[in-house]
Amino acid sequence: MSRCKGCGAEIEWIKTPAGKNMPIDPEPVFVLAAEDGTEVFLTDEGEVFRGKAVESGEGAEVGFVPHWATCRAPAQFRR
Ligand SMILES: [Zn+2]
Repeated sequence: MSRCKGCGAEIEWIKTPAGKNMPIDPEPVFVLAAEDGTEVFLTDEGEVFRGKAVESGEGAEVGFVPHWATCRAPAQFRR
């Protein structure tokens, strides 16, 4: 477990199939996958998919929120 340098939140790192490390929020969420979804999530394999976060697990899959989506200091992720 490491901490975000921008906001101090606990984050984890996940390796994408492309070999890039992506910061994620440690708590998984339920996601209804949708190609036109406005939010972006990562599988535990580091693959990016679009969808919508939902409360219940019915028909949903588990995903992780990229930390740059929830960071209170997101400017650090812009290059
Ligand atoms: Zn942060």
